[in-house]
Amino acid sequence: MAFDTESFDILLSTVQRFVRERLVPAENHLEEHDEVPPELVDAMKDMGLFGLTVPEEFGGIGLSVSQEVQVNFELGRTAPAFRSVFGTNIGIGSQGILMDGTPDQKADYLPRVASGELVMSFALTEPDAGSDAASLKTKADLDGDHYVLNGTKRFITNAPRAGAFTLMARTGGPGASGISAFIVPADLSGIKLGKKDKKMGQRGTMTCDVILENVRVPAANIIGGVPGQGFKTR
Ligand SMILES: Cc1cc2nc3c(=O)[nH]c(=O)nc-3n(C[C@H](O)[C@H](O)[C@H](O)COP(=O)(O)OP(=O)(O)OC[C@H]3O[C@@H](n4cnc5c(N)ncnc54)[C@H](O)[C@@H]3O)c2cc1C
Repeated sequence: MAFDTESFDILLSTVQRFVRERLVPAENHLEEHDEVPPELVDAMKDMGLFGLTVPEEFGGIGLSVSQEVQVNFELGRTAPAFRSVFGTNIGIGSQGILMDGTPDQKADYLPRVASGELVMSFALTEPDAGSDAASLKTKADLDGDHYVLNGTKRFITNAPRAGAFTLMARTGGPGASGISAFIVPADLSGIKLGKKDKKMGQRGTMTCDVILENVRVPAANIIGGVPGQGFKTR
């Protein structure tokens, strides 16, 4: 159910004021230091921005799509790097769990995503698989009740901040039906991050490679629990 109109109007005017009084004045800092000041990240958490689209039952605000678009219009009045801080949490990082996750996965992850305690990134792209994402090569081999993941993910937004990744890997044969979506905690042994990418624009946003070398992920971390559904989850 969408956030009621009166509460939404209050949220929208709070976001407008935040953009005007806190974010726009911080644009020079962003440009010079290539980072979003930590006190602004904390303010975003306090405002509930990390959980804008997470349903209220999981601790979020539960905006409808049209309400989210209106908030995004306001955030569009300043540098995109600010929205990028929480953009993966309310979008590609958490939506797979929201749409396809088991009840346990939703209860475990979504409240922490909504509060900003856990930053989630989305790891699909690879050095040789971008537009043609179904050709991805990252392998997930079953070993007992774990999968062993090997591969490299490229241009992963918020990877340096991430506590976990929604990560696509191949559990089966070629094509989309061989791909599964995993929840991969960022502190698992065998995960390395590449150097932060230097971009032509979007100062303050963070992307980098995520390299997986024999990373053991519990089979229970497949979103929805069923292998081969990753492309639908995405
Ligand atoms: C700032 C930034 C943040 C990103 N964040 C993430 C992230 O968080 N997670 C993630 O998984 N990925 C992320 N990506 C990766 C992004 O999804 C890929 O860059 C995108 O899918 C394109 O893939 P590619 O870069 O390999 O380009 P390619 O697929 O190699 O495409 C290069 C060019 O060829 C064109 N092209 C490709 N195929 C065809 C075709 N069949 N016909 C005609 N033209 C074609 C494309 O339109 C493009 O202009 C990010 C990228 C950027 C730049």
